[in-house]
Amino acid sequence: MTDFADLAQEVFDQCETLAQFSQAEGMMDRRFLTKEHQQANAQTAFWMEAAGMQTWQDEAGNQYGRFECSTPDAPTLLFGSHLDTVPNGGKYDGILGVLTPIALVKYLNQTNQALPFHIEIVGFGDEEGTRFGITLIGSRAISGNWDDNWLLLQDANGVNLSQAMAEFGLDYTKIQQASRKSSNLLAFVEIHIEQGPVLEKENLPVGIVSSIAGAKRAIISLKGKAGHAGTVPMHLRQDAVVAFAHMAVAINDIAKKHGVVATVGYLENKPNAVNVIPSRTQFSLDIRSEYDALRDEALAEIESQLAVLANEYQVELEWKQTHSASAVACDPALKSMLESAVADTGTQPLTLFSGAGHDAMELANLCPMAMLFVRCKEGISHHPDEAIQVGDVEASLHVLARFIERFAEENR
Ligand SMILES: [Zn+2]
Repeated sequence: MTDFADLAQEVFDQCETLAQFSQAEGMMDRRFLTKEHQQANAQTAFWMEAAGMQTWQDEAGNQYGRFECSTPDAPTLLFGSHLDTVPNGGKYDGILGVLTPIALVKYLNQTNQALPFHIEIVGFGDEEGTRFGITLIGSRAISGNWDDNWLLLQDANGVNLSQAMAEFGLDYTKIQQASRKSSNLLAFVEIHIEQGPVLEKENLPVGIVSSIAGAKRAIISLKGKAGHAGTVPMHLRQDAVVAFAHMAVAINDIAKKHGVVATVGYLENKPNAVNVIPSRTQFSLDIRSEYDALRDEALAEIESQLAVLANEYQVELEWKQTHSASAVACDPALKSMLESAVADTGTQPLTLFSGAGHDAMELANLCPMAMLFVRCKEGISHHPDEAIQVGDVEASLHVLARFIERFAEENR
């Protein structure tokens, strides 16, 4: 009998091995279509083959492995996540969702389980979007949402996407071949670190995702009036920073009131001098919720409150929306199957939503989608301190094994 503890340790060690493929010395940084991406794909393919899978790379640089059942025209259950990282990122964000299913396939192979479907695992080449500035390039190629205009996007060194693809050995004229639109996909399941503190707080190894939050983003500019810090009386000022400060507090309060998350993460101030009243302050707003309607309700209140504050502090306010995405719900049937699988292993099935975007959002365009979160230390991600426990990988393997059994029963 294969020991899940050993398999989990293997996954953990493989995460360490993949962490060696980094384009920057002393930190984790693996971006789309780099030499390190190539190395990570090759290493992952090696493990896929060792687990009993056939492997290939698609026309977008995504790495695939396939574990065939005995019925050639059977449908496919797809697992996967991304193999790229942010600069100075962690070893598990994305990577865990590629390596854990490989361990699962190894177990299925060793125990000779007869399944009514094929299993494929995909390691997406780009989710983070840190090289060409747009996210989810890998999964968008697969969902058929590729945009040829991206080919001209340049990285920091002036290399455009089409050049990078050619250097990687890919033919962008064949990119449509990466689309799985006409594939017989039963479902897509993504395993991912939580990137938040909820599971740790609840003392649970895994959790089931209900939906992936939809974000809206805006850049808000405030125009006040510059003046001498010593000579302009307080009651005659049009101080853009003072207006901003009240606005940031209002955003925070309104988000709490509506149960959404809102963040002012970017701030620019002009002229930014010690003895000058600020004349221009620009800041970002990122607002997300599991429910689009709730998010938009909070956003509407933020908009009207900011207008009130702009008037009160005598600044001109300009609002530019820069991003809008709808929340993507996980498939209810798959979600409850994952919940049952978690309960089968003796763990309380906690459902939580994902505040971060994932490849699964794109795959939801193709087939039913579900996600399983794995606890991570203090909820830290996109940082070298990102950490997981081997025991939690073992717990997720138990859940996945039960999930496969239940899924096979449903699809026989
Ligand atoms: Zn990720």
